[in-house]
Amino acid sequence: MSDVIAAIATGKAPCAIGIIRLSGDNCAEVVQRVFRLRSGVPVRDAENRKLLLGTLFDPQRRMLDQAMLVYARAPHTYTGEDTVELQCHGSPAVLSAALDALFLAGARQAQPGEFTKRAFLNGRLDLTSAEAVIDLIEAQTADMAANAAAQVGGALERKITPIYDSLTDICSHYHAVIDYPDEDIPEFQMQSFLQTLSDAQARLRALYATCERGRILKHGVKIALIGRPNTGKSSLLNALAGCDRVIVTDQAGTTRDTVEELVRFGSVPARLTDTAGIRETDDRIEALGVARAKNAAEQADLTILVCDGSAPLTEEDQRAIRAARGSKRAIALLNKSDLPAAVGADELPFATVFSVSALNGTGLDALARYIETEFSQELPCDGGILTNTRQADAVRRAADAIGQAVAAIEAGVTPDAVLTQIEAAMAALGELTGRTVREDITNRIFERFCVGK
Ligand code: GDP
Repeated sequence: MSDVIAAIATGKAPCAIGIIRLSGDNCAEVVQRVFRLRSGVPVRDAENRKLLLGTLFDPQRRMLDQAMLVYARAPHTYTGEDTVELQCHGSPAVLSAALDALFLAGARQAQPGEFTKRAFLNGRLDLTSAEAVIDLIEAQTADMAANAAAQVGGALERKITPIYDSLTDICSHYHAVIDYPDEDIPEFQMQSFLQTLSDAQARLRALYATCERGRILKHGVKIALIGRPNTGKSSLLNALAGCDRVIVTDQAGTTRDTVEELVRFGSVPARLTDTAGIRETDDRIEALGVARAKNAAEQADLTILVCDGSAPLTEEDQRAIRAARGSKRAIALLNKSDLPAAVGADELPFATVFSVSALNGTGLDALARYIETEFSQELPCDGGILTNTRQADAVRRAADAIGQAVAAIEAGVTPDAVLTQIEAAMAALGELTGRTVREDITNRIFERFCVGK
């Protein structure tokens, strides 16, 4: 028997409608104490899954709101339990008073993610789908949302379950051989096991290879703007982000630390980091910023070196050029193209150099198109992309264990050694989908959720 949990599921600002949701075996009885249906029918007898009008009362039986109610009976609900949703007017005061009334009537405050955790524990969602719920809520682009929505619908589970089932099959044969040592696995069957295991490993490796795309989809391409002070990095970040997020001044060294902004280039989300100008400095705080700038360049998917095209290159520019060339991938910008040029693109040792003006926007379109083309990936957002490090780690461990099982079979190692590896792969896949996941890990996953989900 589950206790009745309740939470406000909508935002904290006043809005047209605010939703309170409840879940648990007795939730209709609890709601009955604070809500009267216009039809006079008791809530427990309300028509299933139908939007019904009624009146919400506070504990003193004062009317709080005219609201709508939906009662959905187990097991075909989000949590797998009886659930009630109350659609009230979206005043934070109304919602808070209604929630208090529900607490007095027997409900308790739901913990973050508790509805989804119940859905998982009641078998309504596997763990990959449950984790995708939070990705969907936090999605910052339509592509992120599409991938997460497909995963909520079970896209990852559908990839994993056939692999898990094929391993179960092989395992049972190996158990038979261990239990009855006189039995041998015939040669043709061994070949078919090897084929199945190699296929499984290839599929898991291909899935693992989507992590990088998943990271970019979820967190954006990491782009670091580096250059000596006063070349226009902050102005460029502001121009690209379309707001005055960073303070721009004539005084060199204003950006003493790193500033990050999420910017979209067409379909490509990017995290643009404006770094402190790279130069020798005695200022300890600024020196820290400079170290962070170098670090940002090392971590970035793309480093953009920013030079002032209206002034000859200095030793500080050369230092920044060296830092940029040491990064994974770099391009250069000659900024301030609205002023007479003092530097040519051929003076910069980069294959791609754009001439831009952060001041009037010239050249920024070409830069944006370049970033979109370079980083828009062919992979569709069909839910088959790993966006979560926990999941990626489990996939990698499963693939590694299968690889070791294959090697063990090929080396003619005893069946129990092969079985150990196959079972290790199954345990890793079980963690991924939640079949064998430990309770503390489950708790940690759902703690990341918002209250009411
Ligand atoms: P940072 O130290 O590299 O971040 O440089 P800022 O963005 O703070 O810019 C330094 C100075 O250059 C400020 O006075 C800006 O207004 C100016 N500036 C930045 N971009 C341009 C540009 O494209 N053209 C011109 N003329 N001035 C610019």
